[in-house]
Amino acid sequence: MSTPVFEPALWYDVTARDDNGACANAGQEFAVNPCYSNGGIVVVECGLCRQPMTLISAVLLDPQPEVS
Ligand SMILES: [Zn+2]
Repeated sequence: MSTPVFEPALWYDVTARDDNGACANAGQEFAVNPCYSNGGIVVVECGLCRQPMTLISAVLLDPQPEVS
């Protein structure tokens, strides 16, 4: 499995999975859309255990969403 690569300062549709076996969310996948890539490094934290989740996929949004 390869880690998604992000271009900086763009919006993505990201799928992340909680791999913290001690967490109630373990093994579950979560969609983050839109997800901003910031400087090209994306960290999605689990809302329960606050651990960074494993990023499974990232699809560049086309068109990019309007930022208000
Ligand atoms: Zn968790």
